[in-house]
Amino acid sequence: MGRAASVGPRMADEFDAIVVGAGMAGCAAAIRLAQGGANVLLLERGSAAGAKNLSGGILWGHDLDAILPNWWREMPLERHIVRKRFGLLTGERSASFDFEDGDWKKEPYVAHSVLRARTDAWLAQQAEAAGATVVPGVPVERLLWEGSRVRGVVQEGETMTAPVTIVADGTNSRVSLGTPIRPASRLSGEATELGIKEVYRLDPSVIEDRFQVGPGEGHAEEWVTGLFPSGVLGGGFLYTNRDTISLGLIVNIASLYGKGVYSQELVERFKLHPTIANRLKGAELVEYGAKLISSGWASRPSAFHGEGWMVAGDAAGFVFSNGLVIQGMNYAVRSGIAAAETALEARLSKEASSARLAAYDRRLERSGILADFRDFERMDEVKWNPRYYTAYPKFATDLLHAMMTETGAPKQPLRRLVRKAQKAAGLSTLQLVRDGIDVVRDV
Ligand SMILES: Cc1cc2nc3c(=O)[nH]c(=O)nc-3n(C[C@H](O)[C@H](O)[C@H](O)COP(=O)(O)OP(=O)(O)OC[C@H]3O[C@@H](n4cnc5c(N)ncnc54)[C@H](O)[C@@H]3O)c2cc1C
Repeated sequence: MGRAASVGPRMADEFDAIVVGAGMAGCAAAIRLAQGGANVLLLERGSAAGAKNLSGGILWGHDLDAILPNWWREMPLERHIVRKRFGLLTGERSASFDFEDGDWKKEPYVAHSVLRARTDAWLAQQAEAAGATVVPGVPVERLLWEGSRVRGVVQEGETMTAPVTIVADGTNSRVSLGTPIRPASRLSGEATELGIKEVYRLDPSVIEDRFQVGPGEGHAEEWVTGLFPSGVLGGGFLYTNRDTISLGLIVNIASLYGKGVYSQELVERFKLHPTIANRLKGAELVEYGAKLISSGWASRPSAFHGEGWMVAGDAAGFVFSNGLVIQGMNYAVRSGIAAAETALEARLSKEASSARLAAYDRRLERSGILADFRDFERMDEVKWNPRYYTAYPKFATDLLHAMMTETGAPKQPLRRLVRKAQKAAGLSTLQLVRDGIDVVRDV
């Protein structure tokens, strides 16, 4: 791959399409464009694709079948996930259940743990092999607007032009903020979440013993954490990689406002919980970082396409996160391919008007992406109900404690134990019913 300087001065419309950002969305778009014969330029601000990427890392990769049929054999994946654990953490208690599925153990496997520095670099190589010009080390400064039309991008005074630009620069899409794509100059706390991640090195045989998986198999955990001070809301995750463990938190940013709580303090509380601490025994911290995460429909731009532009992946708000799963890479790939196919059609018709690029929205609709977000419009509101992070973990772990601990005191019927746990957690029966209906209806 060349350096920024090798892009050199370009003549107008030398490229058929420019893609900003070599994450999952941008790489998928560039691969599909190059496979379709387009002259595509993929620009990445990091020193290499993936260098600036941080993701907890379970990839549901079937969307890649359309561009890279052998991806699951060739891509540098970590482990194929065979088990998911969901649980609650409070004080020194935890409660969890496991889901295992025989289908997950069969090739081509449905989900893999990934480390983005490896996967994104590989995807960028595939884009280059397909014929795309991939240039890392180029932080695009802004889109080149001519009236209401995007004509390309600008970086350090140099312009690179194309009839179509695909904006795939991730959650905090700087190139679209303050433009007609996203008129506000900043993302709101309500439309974003904070992801914090650490990576720990651990011997593969220890990972396999500790998490009871075979060689190449992986285990994933999602925790609702009733551990944080001052009403801070967040959930934890832990995924096994080949010789590392990815561990982190997804935190509701609005719940952090004015609390004087540092994100590192939250990670420490999560890691120090005995259930999590046991999993990290003997592991060595090798990497850490934090990144904003789009939160679905609330974080969508003013439109997904316009004159000469389309927005894909996180930049379009396509992250589905309901507390049990977080899925964004699959939507990034699918929307990147949809944008590329629309750009290929526009190239054939030699027209990249908004009316022509409206085919992108139709593809997003047909592929189910828009329905997945529109139908779950209330999910964030329900997911960040403070009771799920305080009252419910306490209620569930108190109840389980009462049911499972022999103290010599007279046994109590379940209804009395439930009522006692409800009272201690401050949960009325009406709230239980209402919250239950919300979950069933909106999550
Ligand atoms: C902690 C955490 C855990 C997550 N866990 C999961 C998970 O388990 N499963 C899942 O599917 N999703 C997960 N996600 C979400 C997932 O990471 C994103 O949905 C996905 O990365 C979106 O891909 P993208 O290509 O749209 O954006 P990104 O991956 O963010 O890629 C954008 C790219 O654009 C580049 N860029 C940005 N600005 C510029 C610029 N001005 N010029 C040039 N390049 C630029 C960036 O460097 C980056 O390479 C998680 C996210 C976080 C933060």
